[in-house]
Amino acid sequence: MSPLDELYREVILDHYRNPRHRGSLNGPHVHAEGLNPSCGDEFALDLSVEGDTITDVAIQGQGCSISQASGSMMADAIVGRNFDEVEDMIRKFRLMMTIDEGDNPVDPERPGAVLGDLEALQGVRKFPVRIKCADLAWTTLTDALAKARANA
Ligand code: ZN
Repeated sequence: MSPLDELYREVILDHYRNPRHRGSLNGPHVHAEGLNPSCGDEFALDLSVEGDTITDVAIQGQGCSISQASGSMMADAIVGRNFDEVEDMIRKFRLMMTIDEGDNPVDPERPGAVLGDLEALQGVRKFPVRIKCADLAWTTLTDALAKARANA
């Protein structure tokens, strides 16, 4: 695959065109918003939490396909997970986006096995300016988690 084909993988375009969990939550939830000025991407999410488990998520936002697809895949991946699992996922996602597998073999825990569809975003690493696009949903999620932990 060419680097561009790898950047715009079919699964990424599918999440961009048909975002999962788009909307907002009724009932108690925490809300966080993020902005990626380098590309003009906006992202926001509502998290509903029971104990330390994420029971539902809704996402809003607008921007490039990478930023919005990353948010949609993230939303799919975090429902039903507890805070520790989600923080682990954030860590693995960031590891996947920044480590060059050629010189530094990936984490022996195999982030891909846990990240699922998110693995498709690996192609973004070849376009460093776009890493911020992919990461926007995750910085916003980090904010939301901090709020949820403060409420717990
Ligand atoms: Zn972007």
